Amino acid sequence: MEEPRQVIVAHPEAATPAPAAVSTPSLKIPKGYQMLRFETPSGLWINLFFPHHSRAVGRPTDGRLLNGNCIRESGPGYIHFGPNSCATDQTVALLMFALGRLRKVYPGTPPLVIGSLSAPGGGRIPPHHSHQNGLDVDVGYIPVRDMGLKAFKKLAPSDIDFDRTFYFMAVLLSTGKVKYIFVDYDLQKYLYSAARNMGYSDDQLGLIFQYPAQRYKKKGIIRYSPGHRDHFHVRFTCPEGDVDCVE
Ligand SMILES: [Zn+2]
Repeated sequence: MEEPRQVIVAHPEAATPAPAAVSTPSLKIPKGYQMLRFETPSGLWINLFFPHHSRAVGRPTDGRLLNGNCIRESGPGYIHFGPNSCATDQTVALLMFALGRLRKVYPGTPPLVIGSLSAPGGGRIPPHHSHQNGLDVDVGYIPVRDMGLKAFKKLAPSDIDFDRTFYFMAVLLSTGKVKYIFVDYDLQKYLYSAARNMGYSDDQLGLIFQYPAQRYKKKGIIRYSPGHRDHFHVRFTCPEGDVDCVE
């Protein structure tokens, strides 16, 4: 069965009817830019413009990245470690957008720890199999207090802020441009209950999560993949127009 590729997830309590598309006839997308329109989990309608000069080529497990957009070692609300700091313009724009929303909704959130994206030109970066074409980003689970983390660390569940971590994921999901979020299986139940507490319905939870299905069931956007106990891995979709990109 075809899996859901793009799921727009809105916070049910804040759900408002979508403004008619005709209400923004004056929006012109400048050449070389891309626009995404979506509703955030708190009910904000967003028109996000970003330049689109990068090209994802091939697959995450056998691909390249042209004109990658590379993030700095640190920025407002995040620190990045390791050499692989580049991705598609879309990946970077959505990552930074979600980070901004997280900081707005949860002021005082400890800096997000960001690990590997892709190498400047993409390609294989051991030990990763994927991360080759600018669609993949590794992010640390958000701790309950600022521990001064500079790299990934295996945190006890009681030291992970699942509300903030899930909120960050929910903003990413709301963009409709996330294919998978790979997590540890045992941490899923905490994320699941954070989502339920935020007001997500059973139907929405069923689309978002693999849990409570077993760990090898191919289901949900948030799903198990080994090696994700100290971070989660976001796989974005191919940017529109990147015709040689495969997710
Ligand atoms: Zn990864």
